[in-house]
Parts: sequence; structure tokens; C-alpha cells
Amino acid sequence: MGSADGPPPRDKLGEELKLADPLETDLTGFAGVVVSPGVPINRHPIAGHAARAGVPLIGDIELFAQARTELPRHKVVGITGTNGKSTTTALIHHILDSAGIPARMGGNIGLPILGQEPLPEGGIYVLELSSYQIDLTQSLDCDVAVLTNITPDHLDRYAGFDAYAASKARLFAMQSPEHGAVIGIGDTTSANIARDLAVSGRSEALTKIAPGVCLDQSRWPSLQGPHNAQNALAAIATCEALGLSREAIDAGLASFPGLPHRMERLGVHKGLLWVNDSKATNPTSTAPALQAFDRIHWILGGQAKTDELDACRPGFPNIVQAYTIGEAAELFETILRPELPVAQVGTLEMAVQAAVTVADPGDTVLLSPACASFDQFRDYEARGDAFRALVEGLS
Ligand code: ADP
Repeated sequence: MGSADGPPPRDKLGEELKLADPLETDLTGFAGVVVSPGVPINRHPIAGHAARAGVPLIGDIELFAQARTELPRHKVVGITGTNGKSTTTALIHHILDSAGIPARMGGNIGLPILGQEPLPEGGIYVLELSSYQIDLTQSLDCDVAVLTNITPDHLDRYAGFDAYAASKARLFAMQSPEHGAVIGIGDTTSANIARDLAVSGRSEALTKIAPGVCLDQSRWPSLQGPHNAQNALAAIATCEALGLSREAIDAGLASFPGLPHRMERLGVHKGLLWVNDSKATNPTSTAPALQAFDRIHWILGGQAKTDELDACRPGFPNIVQAYTIGEAAELFETILRPELPVAQVGTLEMAVQAAVTVADPGDTVLLSPACASFDQFRDYEARGDAFRALVEGLS
């Protein structure tokens, strides 16, 4: 009901829509309660209220799933995982699009899927699905369901790691048995999900992604680093399952432009390569970036999600100097000090200035914070945009 200028004021909305407090509404007979994925349903009273009335909590993806019978014949690919969801989703969409297949991308990326024009017959919807969205979905039967990996994250929203992993595994439980599954087996939790599916007779449809498979990544400029090998493999397996030729897949991999804020190369300024990886908001997401370059000046910090950086340790030999910012500046300085040269600089601006002074020509300056951004920025995108603006200001 909103407009381009934002939603109308509340009393105006009230003229057009009936407004009520859901907690004071008798939900008996409702088909579902539509909840934003941002609502913590593990502790919000709406969950108990809906459960007592026997009404499911649903989200926009479930509404899409229920509307599918009305759409021209199509396929759906659903992608989940702790890391690599957006890259894998955008990559699959790009490969399909470059191959001339009508495709739409939605879910946890870009525009909401319900706001987009339906595809003609033969189209493919490519949906990035966070675990919160899967929790609000009951009947999405993906033609291909993809899991990149599972590592601890968002544990405030789940009873524990097992519950978080179970949430992701529900993507496969919703599928018809003849439909395909693509699972990265680089971590034990995902490997167990793959094994359970194979045991339950889904092995024929199952494509396993072996860790350490050698790929010629030099032909894919926007898919550098070991984590992108995993994302590329997931996309290759998915597109093969959708019937694309190897040539079409190769062409799409080579022309993929990449996503902003994910190891985004901002160019060479003052003789240094500047890389914006602001989307890396936990140590696991930062780890691959530290392995993708040598002679790194590493800008990290913000609002810490964990009080350790163990996942990043394999990349430490590549680091010339670390610069810590935000709330976590002191904590991370203390952790890194015994192993690396580290300067507690406080802000992104100071970090950029310090790196320009310290770095030698040919070095890489990498913003890969391993932290949320909310202490100093609206979100990770604002943080990455601020970094880009500072870097562009250098020339
Ligand atoms: P998501 O949508 O799941 O948050 P993205 O594709 O946006 O994932 O990538 C976010 C960050 O996570 C990247 O900047 C990168 O550092 C890291 N990352 C991406 N893919 C993977 C992967 N397959 N395994 C581990 N880390 C990854």
C-alpha cells in the first residue's frame, strides 16, 4: 500500500486497511499469519498466539509457493547456506540469463519475488532463502534445492546449532522425492544432511560437491578465492541439473560481474589494490578473503558477533598489518597483537589513511570486517559504500 515516497502515514493507512493488533485478534479460521523474516519468532508472542489457534506463521516465500499453480509452467531453484547464498543465487541467475532462459531472482536478495512480473512458460525462479525465510515456508517444492555450507551463525534465533541446521535441512524435506539437491560437503553438518538424503533414497538426484576439487578459476575474474570455488561448483551442479550445456555454464561463469561488497575490487589507487568485502560480517566469511590475496592490509572490526577470530588464522601469513575499527577495535587488537602487527585506528577513515601511509606499492588493502556494522553504519552496504567513497577520494 506504500508509494515511491514510502508508506502513507498510519491514520491514512487505517482508511484503506483494517488495522488490528494481531495479539488481540482471534486468529481462529485464519489460513496463516504473514510475518516478516526479521521478527524473532523464537521469542515473539505472536508464535504462541498463532500456535494456540492452530494457524501457521508464513512469509512471502510461502505465499509464492501457494500461488505457483496459477503461474505459467516454470521451475524453482532455492539456495540456502550460512555463507555464499547471494553469490551462488546471483551466479545461477546470471548463467541462466546469459543462456537466454527467462529467469527471476528474489527472496533474500534484490526485489521481493511477489513484486516481480511472473515469468513466461519455461521460466526459472531463483530464490535465495535465509533460514528465517525457510522457517516461514511450508510448501516450497524446489526443482533444485541448494545448500552451500552450514557454520554457526544467528544462534540468537535458534535453540542451538542443531536447530539452526535443522531449519536449513527443511528446504530438502519440502521437496518431492524426484527433485534435485546440490549440497556442499565441506563441513560435517552439510555432509550429514547429504548423507541422510542419500540414505532416504534421494541419492540419484543428489550431486555432491567434493572439497578441494581443482577448477580453473583464472577464467572467472569475479569468482576468486576457495569459497568462490564452492559457490561456482554449486552453480555448475545446479545448472547441469536444470539441463544447461557445459558451454553455456562456462560462458556464464566467465562473464559473471560479481556482487558489490563481496570481495569487490575497487581498483588500484596510490599503487594499492583496494578490495571491499564489507559483507563479511563474521570471521568465517572473512576467512576466504584473507586467502585470496598476499601482502594484505586488513581492516577489521565493528560490532563483534563472536569474541574470537580462529577461522581467520589460516590467512594470517598473508597479512602485513591489521587495522581495527569500531566497538571491537580493542578486543581484536588484543587477540591479534601476539601474532600480527596491529594498529587500533577506530574508524574506517583513519584505517584508509593509515594503510596509505604504511603499505608498499602492490599491496592489497582489504576491508573484511568479520563484524556487523551497526555500531558505526546503517548496514554493511553503507559501510562498503563509505569505504568506496574514501578510496575514490584518494585519486
Ligand atoms: P550470504 O548471502 O550467504 O551472506 P554472500 O554470497 O553474500 O553470502 O557472501 C558473503 C561473504 O561470505 C563473502 O564476502 C565471503 O567473504 C564469504 N563467502 C562467500 N561464499 C562463501 C562460501 N562458500 N564459504 C565461506 N564463505 C563464503
